[in-house]
Amino acid sequence: MTLPLPPNATIGLVGGGQLGRMSALAAARLGYRCHILTRERDSPASQVAAAATISDYHAPEGLRAFAAAVDVISFEFENVDAEGLDLLASLKPVRPSPAILRTSQDRVLEKTFLSAAGVPTAPWLPVATLDELHAAVARLGLPAVLKTTRLGYDGKGQALLRHTGDSVAAFATLSPKPLILEGFIDFSQEISVVAARGEDGAYSAFDTVENRHRNHILDLTLAPARIPEPVNQQAQAIARRVADALGLVGLLAVEMFVDAHGRVLVNEIAPRPHNSGHWTIDACPASQFELHIRAIAGLPLPAATRHADAVMKNLVGPEETALWPAILATPGLIPHLYGKAEARPGRKMGHVTRLFPKGALPGKFGIAAALGPLHTPPVLA
Ligand code: AMP
Repeated sequence: MTLPLPPNATIGLVGGGQLGRMSALAAARLGYRCHILTRERDSPASQVAAAATISDYHAPEGLRAFAAAVDVISFEFENVDAEGLDLLASLKPVRPSPAILRTSQDRVLEKTFLSAAGVPTAPWLPVATLDELHAAVARLGLPAVLKTTRLGYDGKGQALLRHTGDSVAAFATLSPKPLILEGFIDFSQEISVVAARGEDGAYSAFDTVENRHRNHILDLTLAPARIPEPVNQQAQAIARRVADALGLVGLLAVEMFVDAHGRVLVNEIAPRPHNSGHWTIDACPASQFELHIRAIAGLPLPAATRHADAVMKNLVGPEETALWPAILATPGLIPHLYGKAEARPGRKMGHVTRLFPKGALPGKFGIAAALGPLHTPPVLA
């Protein structure tokens, strides 16, 4: 592959969801074509891409056909199995590297990597049997969170243990998958940093943002996070350390907790565009999606500057999606819809961004008012 990737080259993106859709739109602006690998016909990403291969993510013939059609391969979805990743990497450059994807797919590998890199996390122990769970609970104390090591997202594949008696039921629900027990962090805030890193080590990080969840699904992102500067510095230093230690070429989101003592602990990392970076489309000269494409294409990385403060609100499920006409009629709301045919409960259908002058992010009532028909957030403290 010649770098930088020349205009009209084809970027292969694994995954057909909204992250692929917004990456493909950013790639198109930079003069690239995207080819999507997805299981779905008419996926959100393939609706705006030049081409798509419809295939299972571990079907060798599908992966081969996809690789043959592209110049470089990246991801919006990181759960391709190890053999699939190796096959893709044997055919075309894969960025971020398969090793990074493998690390982020598995919570035990991820936490082992983070500890080795000197990055703080919640205390944790791997759990394979009920006896190991009892021993882990005795070591870490309660409350604690039991999670599947793989394929968990939006609170799926995890259980909160409050009392010793909760262990048996939680283990029965989540086993026989490999599990991890994490000490419960009584966090004051959840924050994240999205950063890009190029092949030459160039690094560009967006401002730290604050994330509010509802029913385990991201509801709001506030940019910038309302945190003291020392907390911000910890978060930014951690993101840099993670990106460098991974040898990342691409984009990375680092999700973190701020604990009661102002200490920043990493929850998880995602080597791809992230929901908590959607605000960058409207509030930054170059969005997370543009930085993702630039990093994998070997283009220069601009500074990840912000020209406005922003609130991003997800549109989740049928109730919020039903507000679409009212959203369109509300001045100041910047609408994004992902082209999904069916608004199932809990499904991310789109998002809305509201910009504020830099330094003028309002408090909870101001944010609620600014979201107009979406002024739902009792979640905002
Ligand atoms: P995850 O799937 O790991 O991103 O977890 C989903 C959500 O569960 C997080 O955003 C937190 O709100 C909560 N959570 C996960 N792990 C912990 C933990 N160790 N302590 C406290 N809350 C947690």
